[in-house]
Amino acid sequence: MTWQTRISAALEERRAADAFRLRRPVSQGAGRWLMQGDRRWLNFSGNDYLGLSQHPQLVEAWQQGAARYGVGSGGSGHVTGYSDAHAGLEQQLADWLGYPRALLFISGFAANQAVIAALMGEEDRIVADRLSHASLLEAASLSPAPLRRFIHNDAQHLSRLLARPCSGEQLAVTEGIFSMDGDSAPLADIAEAARAAGTWLMVDDAHGIGVCGPNGRGSCAGQGVAPEILVVTFGKAFGVSGAAVLCSDALADYFTQFARHLIYSTSMPPAQAVAISQALTLVRGSEGESLRARLGENVARFRDGARQRNLSLTASTSAIQPLIVGDNARALAMAERARERGCWLTAMRPPTVPAGTARLRITLTAAHAPQDIDRLLEVLDGAR
Ligand SMILES: *Cc1c(COP(=O)(O)O)cnc(C)c1O
Repeated sequence: MTWQTRISAALEERRAADAFRLRRPVSQGAGRWLMQGDRRWLNFSGNDYLGLSQHPQLVEAWQQGAARYGVGSGGSGHVTGYSDAHAGLEQQLADWLGYPRALLFISGFAANQAVIAALMGEEDRIVADRLSHASLLEAASLSPAPLRRFIHNDAQHLSRLLARPCSGEQLAVTEGIFSMDGDSAPLADIAEAARAAGTWLMVDDAHGIGVCGPNGRGSCAGQGVAPEILVVTFGKAFGVSGAAVLCSDALADYFTQFARHLIYSTSMPPAQAVAISQALTLVRGSEGESLRARLGENVARFRDGARQRNLSLTASTSAIQPLIVGDNARALAMAERARERGCWLTAMRPPTVPAGTARLRITLTAAHAPQDIDRLLEVLDGAR
């Protein structure tokens, strides 16, 4: 097969399965509204759970950071790209989350890749929840260590897999809140399974940090567990972008030596670290409390309304409220009808979600007003 035939066959296969992905340019994609030029839709597709991406204090913090440091970091953190803004943010994150150290990464995807690549060798084994995010499963499949997947949220199955002989070390991997289902992992049971097997636990809390737990400290603090490796990201509730790995001193020193995504990549702009730091101040303070309360009210309003209208709900009580449709074409058609009626929804299809579970991934935020939720319910009802 030539390159050309291989590529057109792959594209054709995607088209035939109604799984062809398109990106749509927007003039604003985060916050309450999604805008294309002067048209706007209520936005139920983003991950800006607290509405912070548009917060004036964050915009100002980024501007002030740029005025002070310029727009780029100028290099990898191992050369000249590690500013006092980066160091200060790492310290704030470590203090807030109760870990000795935090290391900043440019994205959650990079952080997950870096951790797994730096830790795992061919003697070792990764045991991850089947529904783990693509960045984790991708990292695992690139790693020389074999990957075993445990049944979603099943700590007993995790225990059974961890009990199988392994000549090296094992790493148990899960998420705080799952990105496509919105449900929470039973972290206490999972941490206990890892502890009993003498292995480490890595939790990716991309969707929990900022939105749940005491002062927004996330799923782990909320469930009273402290995994050896905690990954948090700043592109969701923090409204910015970037990620951090929280861990021990020794592990942070180890990643500083061996995490290639840190060493061979330009660090995030210092101004971005200033903006994330401002986001952290809001998240952990009284404004964060009231935004989380508003988000909680929106979730409750949505779930009550959906029940009244007999829309099928999942068990999720988080900001992610999927409406499972099943068929790809039907999910696409529903999203299209909702868009025609002013609500921006995204149809998630395989391979992002398991085959036969195409869905509308509805996300609610603190930026939505109660009438926005009512409008969404009406539109979903009509789009069936
Ligand atoms: C979004 C997400 C990531 C990737 O984080 P980015 O900062 O967007 O690269 C990683 N893990 C999970 C569970 C996510 O939902």
